[in-house]
Amino acid sequence: MSIPDDEVAQVRAATDIVALVSEHAALRRQGQRWVGLCPFHNEKTASFSVNAQEGFYYCFGCHASGDAITFLREVEHLDFADAVRMLAERAGVVLHETSEGSAEHKRTVELYEAMAKAAQWYHERLLSAPDAGRARDYLRSRGYDGDVVRRFSLGWAPEGWDALCQAIGLSERVLSDAGLGFVNRAGRAQDAFRGRVLFPICDPRGRPVAIGGRILPGGPGESGDSGAAGRPEPKYKNSQETAIYVKRRTLYALNWAKHDIVATGEVIVCEGYTDVIGCFQAGMPRAVATCGTALAEEHFRLLRNFGRRIVLAYDADQAGQTGITRVYEWERRHNVDVRVAALPDGADPGDLARTDPDALRAAVAGAAPLLAFRVDRTLRAGDLSTAEGRARAAESAIAAVAEHPDDLVRDQYVMRVADVARVEPERLRARLAQVRAAGRDGEARPERRAGSPGRRQGSRPGLEALRLAVHRPDLVADRLEEVLFLDPLQRRTFLALASSDSLHEAVSAAEPEVADLLRRLAVEEPLLPEDPHTDPADPVLVLLVREAARRALADLQAEGRLGHTALAELTEETVTVRRNLEDLEDQERRRAAADRLVAWLVTGRAGGSPAERARTQMTEPRS
Ligand SMILES: [Zn+2]
Repeated sequence: MSIPDDEVAQVRAATDIVALVSEHAALRRQGQRWVGLCPFHNEKTASFSVNAQEGFYYCFGCHASGDAITFLREVEHLDFADAVRMLAERAGVVLHETSEGSAEHKRTVELYEAMAKAAQWYHERLLSAPDAGRARDYLRSRGYDGDVVRRFSLGWAPEGWDALCQAIGLSERVLSDAGLGFVNRAGRAQDAFRGRVLFPICDPRGRPVAIGGRILPGGPGESGDSGAAGRPEPKYKNSQETAIYVKRRTLYALNWAKHDIVATGEVIVCEGYTDVIGCFQAGMPRAVATCGTALAEEHFRLLRNFGRRIVLAYDADQAGQTGITRVYEWERRHNVDVRVAALPDGADPGDLARTDPDALRAAVAGAAPLLAFRVDRTLRAGDLSTAEGRARAAESAIAAVAEHPDDLVRDQYVMRVADVARVEPERLRARLAQVRAAGRDGEARPERRAGSPGRRQGSRPGLEALRLAVHRPDLVADRLEEVLFLDPLQRRTFLALASSDSLHEAVSAAEPEVADLLRRLAVEEPLLPEDPHTDPADPVLVLLVREAARRALADLQAEGRLGHTALAELTEETVTVRRNLEDLEDQERRRAAADRLVAWLVTGRAGGSPAERARTQMTEPRS
């Protein structure tokens, strides 16, 4: 099942990425690149770019990036191996998959098999075992008939200590690695789930990876009694994380919901398994739930491949508070539209689906943007009958508005608050500016409009130099040094390039943020001077060296102010660095000056007294 690396590389090389992408988005040629409307986000102007030669794509709008394999995975919702297989078939590459695979791979397969076996066994228990009668009664009382039980593969874990361990014959190691059991103090294998209704949690392909269990009403957890182990049993219990189960990347029921999410472009995010099932029963089979963890960025990354409208159907108080500022950020970064369903106070979607499914459907259909939900809730909670009450309500609402990163959005809400609270918009804008300024103290908040390219730009000369290193390594390979990159991301990106033989090697070995930047650089074209007498790399290198040398000089002067360097030495070093900086502006001298400054910077990082460095490195005669 595991595909050798060289065959993956062969598949990548044999794939025409332009042809592949063209099946999903129209591309037209522009210089060395191909551009078109991004298949991963809605846009009117083309920000999706493909480098056919290197086989990378990058979107300047939503920052999606990758190679042919990533592209196919994202558009077809496949895992890595399946995407490689599909591309191999297209390109006529024959794969020799090793059936044994790596040891790690083998263990992963064992875990999937164990989970599948256990989920099936638990499911059959619920359907037919005599001791599951109480569980079946409970589920019927919740309105779950046989169809629901089968559709969601619900299960029943019997009360015994080791019923599962005995029944499915797995090694103690596999049981515990899968989170299905553990070895107790007496040294015997024991089941992790006992006396619970079970909700298997699957990956998007439908393979069970974990289990959520609920104790029956009147059971030890529900009544507050102690469990058999002497501790109260929690009402809900979730599998621990395992090699195949990462909570922040898993959404309960996505495997069942994904078709309707794709069809409608909408996903309903709930808190619990029963909320999800309630939405399905109310005719909205596009609900998922986080598994005992807060909504995380990975969840957004996963969901945006299926649908762009994300409706949070949480308990009202919680929905207003869920990691607000991060949600705004993710909303922008992943180009999704996050909304909040206004459920009646105290109601959850599971209950509402039974008592008033129309109200549940109406709440989802009328879901408001997160900020609108918060502002309206704040205003409604205020006393709008008096001038003082309205001023206080406006003040609280403006505090919520201030957290939104987009100034155009903020201003729309200023108008809304002004209308409702009958306050002059100008007064609110002034107040908003104060709140924003106070929030900025100590933390720089970059102002960026939605849709503007680049999450973070960093230094422009640094980016330009990296672009050259990607496209024309021949020009800059022996002139770039780590110390020239002041921006940490750019520095890591340079190191990734410097330590690899090819761009592909660098991308595959790099951390995600660096790989993203490399792929983006691969679809951009470097700026080269038209003057044939100039070394094409000089203009960029001069900017880069100047920036780094000025920073180092400032550091040096700070050292001097702190008394760490003798004044005479400091003055001497400062003077030589300054002279070299001046020479950078001179056509004839700049190459030599740049080389001397780079040498000074490099040895500076290596240690030694700054003054000594200055004397040895900087005192060559001016050429
Ligand atoms: Zn895009």
